[in-house]
Amino acid sequence: MAQLLDGKALSEKLVAEISTKIATKSIELRAPHLAAILIGDHAPSKAYVNNKIKTCEKVGMASSLHSYSSDITEAELLNLIEKLNRDNTVDGILVQLPLPSHINSKRIIEAILPSKDVDGFHPLNIGNLAKGYDCFVPATPLGVTMLLDHYKIKTGGKHCVILGRSAIVGQPLSFLLARNGNPGNCTVTLCHSKTVNITHYTRQADILIAALGIPNFVKKEMVKPGAVVIDVGINRVEDLSKKAGYRLTGDVDFEAVQDIASWITPVPGGVGPMTIAALIFNTYKAWSERMM
Ligand code: NAD
Repeated sequence: MAQLLDGKALSEKLVAEISTKIATKSIELRAPHLAAILIGDHAPSKAYVNNKIKTCEKVGMASSLHSYSSDITEAELLNLIEKLNRDNTVDGILVQLPLPSHINSKRIIEAILPSKDVDGFHPLNIGNLAKGYDCFVPATPLGVTMLLDHYKIKTGGKHCVILGRSAIVGQPLSFLLARNGNPGNCTVTLCHSKTVNITHYTRQADILIAALGIPNFVKKEMVKPGAVVIDVGINRVEDLSKKAGYRLTGDVDFEAVQDIASWITPVPGGVGPMTIAALIFNTYKAWSERMM
């Protein structure tokens, strides 16, 4: 039976450590400030942003929520970002994705000052990540590497298979795990929707990371016995027995796969809370660098 990679417990520990550092440093300095931009009524986006804001409060960070209806124009949103870029009391800016289709997300992300881009989505940060330079690492991939590091999962020389090549999860994870560092030094295979015979690759994985957004996609037969399995997926599946009418499930068939994996992340309670901890880490980093 696999051991659990407990993202909830680790996230609480990391967040408490950052909170202590902020309490010490902000005696003389102002507290770190995260500005969150939320457009429209997308329920999961609202839940994610509220969670981020709540965690900021918990650690002693300031936060501001800039919430607009989905008919905001691209020019108005660019103006807001420009204002936040110039505001010396704002350390981090995040724009919750997805944006309405009339707004060009690429243009919006590129408008954020790279030194305030705590989501790590700006091309400059992604480029620095690819080069192995210091940068803001996107929160979910950073959270995954924090989990591997904390549980002392050996990555050097291992074959890591990642399912999903999105710019916010799969692709940056492939950079992080292939780099010459720790965690890192993996041989990485990046699978996606056009990969033929995916089981051929997943069966070879010492570390298997699922980030495709398909509930229970990874079945027991697809996993090599003893593999470390990281489930990034967060999917809402209808469940009328729940008050909300749905439950959250990952991309891995947890019940079956836990029988043969050596380590596994639960959903919820695995990568999700680590993403928040990593965002807090990045905001703290932005603030520390601005205050130096
Ligand atoms: P995305 O839709 O942007 O990308 C999905 C990727 O999966 C694509 O690269 C696509 O090629 C690949 N894919 C789709 N079908 C496939 C198939 N049959 N076989 C192989 N690859 C396939 O998604 P995303 O934003 O990367 O998110 C992926 C999942 O991770 C979602 O469930 C999302 O909710 C979750 N997520 C979780 C967190 C977290 O904090 N835990 C953060 C971000 C995303």
